[in-house]
Amino acid sequence: MMGDRDYRSVIKNAIQSVGRELEYRFKKDDISKIHASEVTGCLRRAFYDRTDEIEKDQTSFSDLVGGMFRQLEFGAKAADFSLNDISLEAQADLIVDDLVMIFRSIGEFPENPFSKDILYINACMYAYDKLDGVIIYINGLGEEISFSVTRNKRMFEETVRRVRVLSDLLKEQKTPILEASVECTGCQYYERCYTKKKAGKTINFFGAGNDFLSSLKT
Ligand code: SF4
Repeated sequence: MMGDRDYRSVIKNAIQSVGRELEYRFKKDDISKIHASEVTGCLRRAFYDRTDEIEKDQTSFSDLVGGMFRQLEFGAKAADFSLNDISLEAQADLIVDDLVMIFRSIGEFPENPFSKDILYINACMYAYDKLDGVIIYINGLGEEISFSVTRNKRMFEETVRRVRVLSDLLKEQKTPILEASVECTGCQYYERCYTKKKAGKTINFFGAGNDFLSSLKT
């Protein structure tokens, strides 16, 4: 805090507003359309996002890299893949020379792309009817590592299955089961799925009263 202004909260609010602008946009009240980002992550989180949302914290500008590409004039536009009664919507960040591209910010480069990102880009390849894609991870220093992927039918079938599960659960207003993963740690619904994060009670042994010390002897 400097002077009367809490700069940290001003910056946090600014990041939050930019984050809102750059998120995937889809109508959350229209359950005939499911976004690929919903079914390639935790279904329970997607369900809460639609039914009883808590806004997620945008922790830094690096989380917003993919959204910035989509905002550019030549950024990729959303596309739908029809499943007859439902449609699956997906949006890549860029499409260059028939190559579907998504960008993700990362602290440490992974050995292999994350399954969530592979499933997402695979859904994009079906939505745009393209065969090849590339996932690009960018770290805080602006360095990048990329992984090329090709369209995979079996993976897409799994995505379609999850679209149907989420759609049915939304219709029935039934909460999906927990999908424990690394995603849980930063999830805004953590306390709905697990116990409240609570610090243990501190016991001051040195200042403990006689009653407490004698109870240890018995
Ligand atoms: S805490 Fe985990 S299981 Fe619960 S909604 Fe979030 S990501 Fe899903």
